[in-house]
Amino acid sequence: MTKDWNTRTRLVHGGTRRSQWGEVSEAIFLTQGFVYDSAEAAEARFQQAGDDEYIYARYGNPTVRMFEERIAALEGAEDAFATASGMAAVSGALTSMLRAGDHVVAARALFGSCLYVLEEVLARFGVEVTFVDGADLDQWRAAVRADTRLVFFETIANPTLEVVDIAGVAEIAHAAGAVVVADNVFATPVFSRAVELGADLVVYSATKHIDGQGRTLGGVILGTREVIRGTVEPYMKHTGGAMSPFTAWVLLKGLETLDLRVRAQADTALALALAVQGHPALARLVYPGLDSHPQHGLVTRQMGGRGGTVVALDLAGGQAAAFRFLNTLEIVLISNNLGDAKSIATHPATTTHQRLPEAQKVALGITPGLVRLSLGIEDAEDVVGDVARALDAAGDLR
Ligand SMILES: *Cc1c(COP(=O)(O)O)cnc(C)c1O
Repeated sequence: MTKDWNTRTRLVHGGTRRSQWGEVSEAIFLTQGFVYDSAEAAEARFQQAGDDEYIYARYGNPTVRMFEERIAALEGAEDAFATASGMAAVSGALTSMLRAGDHVVAARALFGSCLYVLEEVLARFGVEVTFVDGADLDQWRAAVRADTRLVFFETIANPTLEVVDIAGVAEIAHAAGAVVVADNVFATPVFSRAVELGADLVVYSATKHIDGQGRTLGGVILGTREVIRGTVEPYMKHTGGAMSPFTAWVLLKGLETLDLRVRAQADTALALALAVQGHPALARLVYPGLDSHPQHGLVTRQMGGRGGTVVALDLAGGQAAAFRFLNTLEIVLISNNLGDAKSIATHPATTTHQRLPEAQKVALGITPGLVRLSLGIEDAEDVVGDVARALDAAGDLR
């Protein structure tokens, strides 16, 4: 049934299970355990739990299952495992698939915590990681080896918004027998379907656009039924990164409006980019939806030309100008979430990427003047006006 539905229908009805009461809105099953009719039934369920047979909420729960099925239907993936946060999804996807002695190739430009897992955690367990410029397919080709087990990248890199060619990297990785794990947070499942493009596992921080209202932490790992239930689930359910039923309920309601929200946010992002590009306070403006983005052809192929909900601004006056800009904003909040209904501005060099050594910041384009703007669902004209006014104020510091 779900197969024939278009995106918005899947987001509203996908995965729904109703109790005997026939409730319209999804029920929250705030229970950690489940009762068996008999000792024999308990034994049978522990031997092999069928669909919609639950044992313990760390393994699965009806509300969590609704969320997993709804997001899987959206992504076009066979199955999904919901996790406590985006990082539980990233680290779970990597550690469930890898063992000591494996080789990994990863894009260099990553969310700070993803970088920590790849640089610090995997190394401690004997996994070797080679970092490449994710936008350069030649570097992927050169780095992948016979013993490469897995490749990892963010489909749009945080915070500099380079786009990775999912199909191109998947072709290179698959030729070497490696598994492709894509973090698709910035692109959202609305703008690019990483599974269809060749990713074997797709991970999301549901904390971002999927909640979209700044309420919960959550994540999800999507892939084939065989990998999700055979490899990911045993690892996740025994190591404890499960999603709470309450979080799953919040995220189910978030999914209902995901398509509407991210399209409105992307419209505002494009309007903003067009309105302020070329402003004298700016050394650089990056938005994948602009014709001027260096990977515009790829954005057209991979994201239907939609540039997502985030714009990167590099202020010519460096950190002082970036701080003046942030402190002048009245509608856009200074914070570090993204994908939220509220527009949010972040200064990566002093917050999300503060930990990185200076040289690494330079290599990643995280300059002192860089500001990441996540556009919300406020009135576009108000937000553009707020940003333009703050740029005018920052322009004095060139
Ligand atoms: C936020 C984020 C994560 C981590 O998600 P949490 O829900 O904060 O754990 C991972 N990858 C990317 C690209 C992110 O933006």
